[in-house]
Amino acid sequence: MAQNIDSNGAQAVCSEVQDLLYLFVIGDLEGDDLSLVVSHLGACGECREALVQHSLLNKALIQAMPTVKPNIKLMHA
Ligand SMILES: [Zn+2]
Repeated sequence: MAQNIDSNGAQAVCSEVQDLLYLFVIGDLEGDDLSLVVSHLGACGECREALVQHSLLNKALIQAMPTVKPNIKLMHA
């Protein structure tokens, strides 16, 4: 699959970071990916904006989602 060759290398990092923001927001990012995101966010206002959007979206989703029901009837013997 051909990737778009972008003359602006920073764009590629941004899209990579923004792909990882979802995991970052839910705290499921680690290792190199986490370092990449953290250091990039320190340098890139655009991705910080995207992070804010992700955080808001994530909160909205959590609030919109019904609480997971506990396994009420597990002891159904
Ligand atoms: Zn960026």
